[in-house]
This record gives sequence, C-alpha cells and structure tokens, in this order.
Amino acid sequence: MSLQQVKVRRSPYRDRREFQPIEGYMSVELEVCGPSTCGVESYLFVGSGEEKILIRDRGELKRQLAARELSDGLIQSIAKELVSEGESFQRARDPETQMVVPVIFGSSVKGNIKSRLQLTLRPSQGTAVTCIFPYRPLKGAPPVGTHGWRHFRIWQNSLAYTREGVCNATNSPEVCVVCDLLGAPGLSSLVSFGTFYGRGVSTTELSEGAVRLVAATPGSRFTGSISFRGLKLSEVGLLLIGMGYTLKGGKIDKMPVLFGSHKYRGLGGKVMGRVVYNVRDISTSSRCRGEYDVNPGRKYDGGGLDDVLTKALNRAYEEYGQYIEQIDESRAAEEVMRHV
Ligand SMILES: [Zn+2]
Repeated sequence: MSLQQVKVRRSPYRDRREFQPIEGYMSVELEVCGPSTCGVESYLFVGSGEEKILIRDRGELKRQLAARELSDGLIQSIAKELVSEGESFQRARDPETQMVVPVIFGSSVKGNIKSRLQLTLRPSQGTAVTCIFPYRPLKGAPPVGTHGWRHFRIWQNSLAYTREGVCNATNSPEVCVVCDLLGAPGLSSLVSFGTFYGRGVSTTELSEGAVRLVAATPGSRFTGSISFRGLKLSEVGLLLIGMGYTLKGGKIDKMPVLFGSHKYRGLGGKVMGRVVYNVRDISTSSRCRGEYDVNPGRKYDGGGLDDVLTKALNRAYEEYGQYIEQIDESRAAEEVMRHV
C-alpha cells in the first residue's frame, strides 16, 4: 500500500490575547466506562511512574531500624517488610477537600483530546485541515504485531497519507486549525486544561506477568475544567468532537474514547482505558460578545446546555463536515483484536 500525499491547509495564527467571539470555560467529567454507561466494564490507568510500597509490619520495621548498624542482613530483612503494590495512579491534593486523591493532569487530557481531534479530521480530496503530531513518516501500513499497528488500523482513514510535516510557529506563522486552537512549538494554546480530580474514586490492583499497577475502577469519575478564549462556536464544536461528541439525526450523541495505558490489549483479562467525556456546563465571560445566540456572561446547563452543544457541533459539521469521521474507538479496537 502506498500512501497518498496530501496538502495541509494552514493560515496565520490568531492574536493570542483576543477573546472574541467566545471566551469561557466548561466543567467536564471524565467517566471510566461501566456497564450502565457504555455497555463495557473498563479500568483506567494513568501512571505516576512511582511504585506504591506497602509496609507489612510497621512495628517490626521500626525495631529493625533501631538496630542502627546497616548490615546486609538488616537490609534484606527490611526489604522483606516492604511489598510493592505496583505502579501507582497519579495522585495530588484536592484543593476543595485537602485530601490526596487520584488525578489526571490537564496535560494528559489535552494530549488525548488533541490527538483524537487530529485523527478524527481525516483528509478529503487531497487536503487535510490538520497536521498530525508527533509526525512519523510511514512507508505503508505497519504489519500486524509491529509497533503502532493497532493504532494505525483504527485510524487508517487519517493515517494512510503522507503530510507535509507538522506546524511549527518558530519557523512559520501559518498553522493548521488544531494547532491554532491547542498550540504548537512557539505558539501558546487558546484552550487550557485543569487537573481532573477523582473525588471518591476507588482503585484496585491489577496484574499480568511482571506488570502490576493500581487502576481506577469502572464507573470512576474525574472532574475538571477546560477554559478557552477567542474561539468561534465551530471551534468549540471541534473540541467536543475531540472528546467523542457527535450528532446523530440532529441529536447529541457520544462515544467512548481510549485513554491511558494498556487500552488495546487490556490487563489480566480486564478491559482498560475506555472513558467518556461529559460536559456538565458551559459558562461564557461577560467581556466576550458571543456568537450564534451563545451570549456573554451566561452559564448554560440542563436543556440550555444541550442547545449550546448541538449548535456548536452543527457549526463544526457545517465548516469541517467533509473532514470529520467520528470513530467508535472502543468498538474499532475490539474488531482489530478479533481479526488478528
Ligand atoms: Zn498543526
């Protein structure tokens, strides 16, 4: 299979201080799939890179440390008191409750939404509206079993092309729409992602072979906010598309997206990394002018929120419809695995 060359549509990036037409933020929940929400029971792991250590018997450890002389025998016996629970989930102190809870940092959420948006905007008629970062030039489809083959299979309608590199504002002021929204080298993002706190989230240890980790359980909810400035309503719609939102018969629909580690093969017989994004409300600043009846200084929730989400998605489809191909990654990943 040879890859078709496509042009990337780029234009000069906008003034980063501009807050027109829409500035605001949305409260967002990231929910780990459970049977009642997406028909699949999934676990989520976003690693901290640290191992969680359990001490079997604190009293015994104290007594041994009091022996002072750090002989090999003592070190070995101390090691016996320590048990690795595996790699731990990222944790941080929740400013609201002062408790240390599992978290997903904004940079991970941003990476997930940005790469999903780039992949969902597939090329059409020789043109792409987005670059794909990181850029890995491919000669063809990676063979089954080689690095990245599952990712390629799922997103081949976007990846089976050769594009002219990635946007870099230090070389050129012309960038693609996704980089204009979410930033590129030398260009700040118009959208900021806060930390997502897992209030009341329970974790469990999962293992397979030498891999041991602590994952969030099905139905876990992480809440955070995403703020934006200077976006058109169609671009708010693009953000929603990156989160798995779509329109079905004119109505809002959503699909699970893949997030975190072990999302293709699972771990220890468990499905991993299926989440859904739920926008809970959208607030606009009083200094922006708004667009298409999305007004300044308003908080949209309930029915008013559905109306704004539908309008934003409609605007995105009007402007980018020929490029948008919303993929149900969870189903696509299952199919890829079934046909191995
Ligand atoms: Zn770009």
